[in-house]
Amino acid sequence: MRISMKLLSTIVLITNLSFIYIRANAQHFQEPPVTDSNWIKPYKPFRIAGNLYYVGTYDLASYLIVTSGGNILINTGLAQSVPIIKSNIEALGFKFSDIKILLATHAHYDHVAGMASIKKATGAKLMINENDAQVMADGGSSDFVFGGRGSLFAPVKADRLLHEHDTVKLGDMKIIVLHHPGHTRGACSFLFDVKDEHRSYRVLIANMPTILPQTKLSGMPGYPNVGKDYGKTLDDLKKIQFDIWLSSHASQFGMLEKHKPGDGYRPEAFIDRAGYDEAIDDLQKNYLKRLQEK
Ligand SMILES: [Zn+2]
Repeated sequence: MRISMKLLSTIVLITNLSFIYIRANAQHFQEPPVTDSNWIKPYKPFRIAGNLYYVGTYDLASYLIVTSGGNILINTGLAQSVPIIKSNIEALGFKFSDIKILLATHAHYDHVAGMASIKKATGAKLMINENDAQVMADGGSSDFVFGGRGSLFAPVKADRLLHEHDTVKLGDMKIIVLHHPGHTRGACSFLFDVKDEHRSYRVLIANMPTILPQTKLSGMPGYPNVGKDYGKTLDDLKKIQFDIWLSSHASQFGMLEKHKPGDGYRPEAFIDRAGYDEAIDDLQKNYLKRLQEK
């Protein structure tokens, strides 16, 4: 009787400890409330071009690049996007555990909040621009706009720091990293070739230089050169040559107009230089307007 009482109290203690542990973990970060329901609405995954697939939600874009040496995932969306991404990858016939490399267009919670859990589940290596690495490691609490409110997503340490024009290689795939700062200090675009049975396509996943309402282009305490960086990023983006362009949000490259759920394989739907030039032009106009603000 004494033994079983002791056993019982041990079980109670363990249960309490694990409860406290889970609570402590849950309180470790506080994701801002979802303001756009399209962020968490599932979307049918599809093959964009060659070995490149869309596995994100209705608006938060995530891309899977399938290579001979395992797969690369670009962007994770919110923490709650992870089960959607996982089932999208599996619906396409690929294994979640084959993700070897994790990349992100920029370290905001709506694109990277799932990094920590996917890294843990798959053992993939997280590669992030050197200027976004600290924000990733503190869960966004040092972000120059959203910072100062504690962690907004699960903190995660990068395995490799990326710099302008670095190359990320996996199997037969080579991705060129383009540093396009402004939206965050380490925002990046990715340029690479994908192939199908007919031809190859040069793909640009562009981090569009949108400007948050809180950002002052005259300089922020955590980012004095923000205005200058936006200007350079806009100039750089105009010069890039590609066949297909995509971005961090489906709405930014008009995915829903170019592809309907259930459509067949149509890479040519994403060949749209004019749409890209127009989008960059709008961002340039907004940039010039915002430069006037004090
Ligand atoms: Zn963002």
